[in-house]
Amino acid sequence: MANGGSAARGPGLLERLDAGPVICAEGYLFELERRGWVQAGPYVPEVVLDDPDAVRQLHREFVRAGSDVVEAFTYYGHREKLKVIGKEAILEPLNRQALQIAKEVADESGCLLAGDLSNTNVYDPDDAASHRFVRRAFEEQVGWALEAGVDFIIGETYSWLGETMLALEAIKESGKPAVITLAMHQEGIMREGMSMAEACKRLEDAGADVVGLNCSRGPLTMLPALEQIRAAVACHVAALPVPYRTTPEQPTFQSLKDPGCDCLPDGRPFPLALDPFTCNRFEIADFTKAAYRLGARYLGLCCGAGPHHVRAIAEALGRQPPASKYSPDMARHSYFGTDPLLKARNLEYAAQL
Ligand SMILES: [Zn+2]
Repeated sequence: MANGGSAARGPGLLERLDAGPVICAEGYLFELERRGWVQAGPYVPEVVLDDPDAVRQLHREFVRAGSDVVEAFTYYGHREKLKVIGKEAILEPLNRQALQIAKEVADESGCLLAGDLSNTNVYDPDDAASHRFVRRAFEEQVGWALEAGVDFIIGETYSWLGETMLALEAIKESGKPAVITLAMHQEGIMREGMSMAEACKRLEDAGADVVGLNCSRGPLTMLPALEQIRAAVACHVAALPVPYRTTPEQPTFQSLKDPGCDCLPDGRPFPLALDPFTCNRFEIADFTKAAYRLGARYLGLCCGAGPHHVRAIAEALGRQPPASKYSPDMARHSYFGTDPLLKARNLEYAAQL
């Protein structure tokens, strides 16, 4: 089908959410940067043109680990970002190619295909011209997503409600379901000053189908806000933290400090040296259960997520995705296992390791 999704992908997002949780793996920018395919700093997804296989492979790994959604890698693939790197000419091919790669993986796997809009970094509440620029940038990306046959469209990582509303309007005009997720910074409020719950309520009133939080906060410092959002809205709630150990004192991954390292070029772990703060799979499983208990049904992770984290989400929800074929079986570990076939002298030596 040229427009309107694919029958091969089965029930749509809202039907799936009404039946149970939906997992959406995000974090393509960070994971592909680690793999050498994205330049940190500008963070523009040129890799979709430079090496489509690298993007296709990560889509497949996230799906294999349990993601129900293949999110086109168009994050930061908007007009302003391409202007900054002097490559506006590749804006349209980049978006179309990203959608095409994601569509291939969605079609082969039966997962949902999602278009993606992100924060533009040019929105200024007092500058009407910036509103027109942002609105136009969202409209052109929504147009390409629609032509690719997406099942729904994500607008993510916003901190201005005004900008978020522009994204929501553009998505609503397409007729596709809108998943809107906000980035909650240190103060815990939108840049206009209202609470995240209030912003989510206004987005729901304006027609968003799913509202919630993504990026910026780790599991521990996102959960309390999710509870407030759940209480404020009637629609489905999304929860996609970054898999980093944020704390009440350092509630966002941008604000984390690493006293154990004196070799950071600018003294700040974000975004290149967050490794020591990475949540393990058990922490992600715990977060998933907690978010599910408080009523969030659209679950996933953002920057920093790896396929092992996504599998932990799926298994915490009682699923066995294809990657569960290789889920741990520590009973058969040569030194720390319990299997009777293991060598006793190794098991005894384990305490010396
Ligand atoms: Zn993120």
